[in-house]
Amino acid sequence: MATIRHDWTLAQVQALFAKPLNDLLFEAQSVHRQHFAPNQVQISRLLSIKTGACPEDCKYCPQSARYHTGLEAEQLVEVEKVLAEARAAQAAGASRFCMGAAWRHPRERDMPYVLKMVREVKAMGMETCMTLGMLSAEQAQALAQAGLDYYNHNLDTSPEFYGEIISTRNYDDRLNTIDNVRKAGMKVCSGGILGMGEQAQDRAELLRQLANLETHPESVPINMLVKVAGTPMADQPDLDPIEFVRAIAVARIMMPASHVRLSAGRENMSDELQAMCFFAGANSIFYGCKLLTTANPRENDDMALFARLGIEPEAGQPAHLEQLQPVLPTPQDELFYDAAQ
Ligand code: SF4
Repeated sequence: MATIRHDWTLAQVQALFAKPLNDLLFEAQSVHRQHFAPNQVQISRLLSIKTGACPEDCKYCPQSARYHTGLEAEQLVEVEKVLAEARAAQAAGASRFCMGAAWRHPRERDMPYVLKMVREVKAMGMETCMTLGMLSAEQAQALAQAGLDYYNHNLDTSPEFYGEIISTRNYDDRLNTIDNVRKAGMKVCSGGILGMGEQAQDRAELLRQLANLETHPESVPINMLVKVAGTPMADQPDLDPIEFVRAIAVARIMMPASHVRLSAGRENMSDELQAMCFFAGANSIFYGCKLLTTANPRENDDMALFARLGIEPEAGQPAHLEQLQPVLPTPQDELFYDAAQ
């Protein structure tokens, strides 16, 4: 079994990145097989429960109120609508339901609704995941007591590059929330975004930060920047896809027992690039035609790719991808208050 380490030096991570690609992929695939079934991929559903009008200034994000991306802001979705979406997702075979809100942090008046969503989705027998921004220790405790299984909070990039991307919070704020989530007993989903103009050293440092946490995040989303018109990152040069594959492989080697999620940016990846990412150790995806606000590959494309690659949903998930039907929200009406105010 590959050793679970928390003491990586930057030089060691850089040495992994610098390996000949075949050696790196062979090592990553070997580690992967020690911890996971080699041809299974975990699948999650993602629902935006409050879209846009976010006060934060993350330069990559169309949900920030500071950029003019044409995104229509939506208020917090009514609890019953979220439950209806969760029921539809479950009926279609999904086992985990992820709910995301574009907030700096949830306010006290939001918490009763959010907690109710967690309790009721959990009562359906589904795993629950949320991403709501920064959490206090008390909010993390309340979510854990309501039955939240996972909390997503990405580190995004290296501590050194972070200030180039976001000015409204700092790296320690991110680490504090992750710490609050851990102390409350929830599982952590945390990763980053590549292709934002960072240097190779920043990518290595991001993975070092994640792998040197006291406990590795159970889920590590590695996103390729989606360049959204109207955001400051709209004209960012493309990252070399091979460098992206390397990052997946290095994440797999450094966090052998974590699910590495091939996350945003999949829409713009060829089947061949996605296949390389799966070989490098990615074993989780979001399934559905839309992520929070950006496009994701169509279900049929995913099914066809999985069939071509001989990949199946992870054990405990639906046996047939055909069971997973689109259940994405249309939360345009019947909203109950403006959570963006
Ligand atoms: S905090 Fe989240 S929703 Fe808000 S701008 Fe940043 S990434 Fe977007």
